[in-house]
Amino acid sequence: MFSKIVIANRGEIALRVLRACRELGIKVVAVHSEADRDLKHVRLADESVCIGPAASADSYLNIPAIISAAEVTDAEAIHPGYGFLSENADFSEKVKQSGFVFIGPNAETIRMMGDKISAKNAMIAAGIPCVPGNNDPLSDDEQLNLKMAKEIGYPVIIKAAGGGGGRGMRTVHTEAALISAIEMTKAEAGSAFGNPTVYMEKFLEDPRHIEFQVLADSFGNAIHLGERDCSMQRRHQKVVEEAPAPGITEEQRKTIGERCARACVDIGYLGAGTFEFLYEKGEFYFIEMNTRVQVEHPVTEMVTGFDIVKEQLRIAAGLPLSITQDQVKITGHAIECRLNAEDPKTFMPCPGKIDQFHMPGGPGIRCETHIYNGYKVPPYYDSMIGKLIAHGETREGAIARMKTALNEIIIDGIKTNIPLQQEIMEDSAFGVGQQNIHYLEKKLGIH
Ligand code: ADP
Repeated sequence: MFSKIVIANRGEIALRVLRACRELGIKVVAVHSEADRDLKHVRLADESVCIGPAASADSYLNIPAIISAAEVTDAEAIHPGYGFLSENADFSEKVKQSGFVFIGPNAETIRMMGDKISAKNAMIAAGIPCVPGNNDPLSDDEQLNLKMAKEIGYPVIIKAAGGGGGRGMRTVHTEAALISAIEMTKAEAGSAFGNPTVYMEKFLEDPRHIEFQVLADSFGNAIHLGERDCSMQRRHQKVVEEAPAPGITEEQRKTIGERCARACVDIGYLGAGTFEFLYEKGEFYFIEMNTRVQVEHPVTEMVTGFDIVKEQLRIAAGLPLSITQDQVKITGHAIECRLNAEDPKTFMPCPGKIDQFHMPGGPGIRCETHIYNGYKVPPYYDSMIGKLIAHGETREGAIARMKTALNEIIIDGIKTNIPLQQEIMEDSAFGVGQQNIHYLEKKLGIH
């Protein structure tokens, strides 16, 4: 096992990784921006290095500064968390070239999965069902594109090959709107992701978002930890996640989960990863693979009793998986509510000082957050300030515990989305697991 690693992230995930390191006896170097000196994990770390000004581009995305921090502190590996550089193939490559271990898959795998077209093609080759579409970059040939859309059948969705974070996609309902939609998505993708390549696929009208957690080691072993439902979304961003997904049978879990694990072996995958699917009328359609730990990993941890972050560290250190597929058991149900510093009605970010914070508790409650009394939420980063996770013997039991916890938690001084989360927990369709990816926006009157 490593003796010292750098955590190249901030906020709750940096704290989560620090806790896993503590359990494994690994020393931690926190790297942080000038605006983040007071982060909880920075205070708890064994060493800390300021890597630049507040703007992410100058700090959390500053590859030379992060690698220098690993050099001066004599660390052995770098954990990228999620977001920032976690899915940046160049970063993975440079970390390795500089003599450190990147805690995640190798650069080639990240590159292949980072391009949604090559990811889809790799998955088709591995026997994973995908959304029907062209699966090649769209050309400028208007007639060809019109013909293709007609064959796929409207509505179609134009997606950026290099897209992420729910951005870089546009739904097209009619032939008249197709050409301009392609142009606009290309232009946006070029400026947002530095890659104007787009592709076309069938727009599924009322799917659910269901994803499978996988882990693969360097000895050719791969397992899956079952699935999560992340259908409660706003602007393609997840708001509530749960495991297992309501209504998914043991047989479906086994069939799709095992195919995902097998695909990991086929592509030489290393570490933790997630296969994301849209699920409609009993069928799974792959949309993308995330090559990192996900925000919502705790719901899987709660139902399997397995620590995904510790396993990431073990795998990166060259150790074999600590469990086999037979040992994976799903027990009860877990729900996660993301806590954002934002106005619950307008969704405008709401940074500022937290005057009072009380953590909820009780059986089955887990609170993943870096905030504390007097902490100032900076305006420069994502507005997520934590996650509340509730585990129960049944889905109803988990919802009841979540309601209690949301009632108990106090975050004063800034606005948060807690009122929205309370509303979702009271929602009758959510209560019976009927949500699809459009449900929340419809409920909020966005459509
Ligand atoms: P990102 O990398 O930006 O997260 P994804 O490919 O994972 O992009 O898609 C994010 C979300 O966009 C999905 O959860 C779903 O809500 C919507 N989406 C993507 N592809 C389709 C599709 N073919 N049909 C309907 N909705 C889609």
